[in-house]
Amino acid sequence: MSTPTIGVLALQGNVREHVAALTAAGATAVPVRREAELASVDGIVLPGGESTTMSKLLDTFELLEPLRDRLREGLPAYGSCAGMILLADEILDGRPDQHQLGGLDVVVRRNAFGRQVDSFETDLEFTGLAGGPMHAVFIRAPWVEKPGADVEVLASVPEVTSTGLEAGEAAGRPVAVRQGPVLATSFHPELTGDRRVHGLFVDMVRAAR
Ligand code: GLN
Repeated sequence: MSTPTIGVLALQGNVREHVAALTAAGATAVPVRREAELASVDGIVLPGGESTTMSKLLDTFELLEPLRDRLREGLPAYGSCAGMILLADEILDGRPDQHQLGGLDVVVRRNAFGRQVDSFETDLEFTGLAGGPMHAVFIRAPWVEKPGADVEVLASVPEVTSTGLEAGEAAGRPVAVRQGPVLATSFHPELTGDRRVHGLFVDMVRAAR
């Protein structure tokens, strides 16, 4: 099988963890900070971190338009948490000056689980991935408030979490979605050692080549 080269946007956030997870999933993973580095990748991961900070750094590093161009051309992309926010066509509770890369036809709500809930964990059913439920870690996470018509919902928050908490307003909210070559999760599979989401993305990148 061919080894695709996948970039990890390396301006801020969980860069090393994604590089390690992609490598374990069979890709050659490279950090991307410059336009020239972006030009040589077959896919890109937008890590978790802080979307407003990443938005500013995309300007500073002159990557905003080059990245938007490549996404428009169909570059496969996977965004986790802040990365999901960057990929969304529309955000709620964002900062008015924060940029969207766009490409994913969803409305996401930033910090949706409530500002007081720093972190939230549960097991999730993830459509299309064998091996049983996935343990998902949410850190000041967004959820998908409204998926567009062509967006496939792969996982949603259960009514009661695997630790026995009522999910309340979060119940049923989509937290993993795919639209063609674009994948996004509200949670952080790079932090749990479960490589299935990265494996799915590596397969998507291979299929797109
Ligand atoms: N709340 C963050 C943001 O708005 C995302 C948090 C995360 O990526 N862990 O960007």
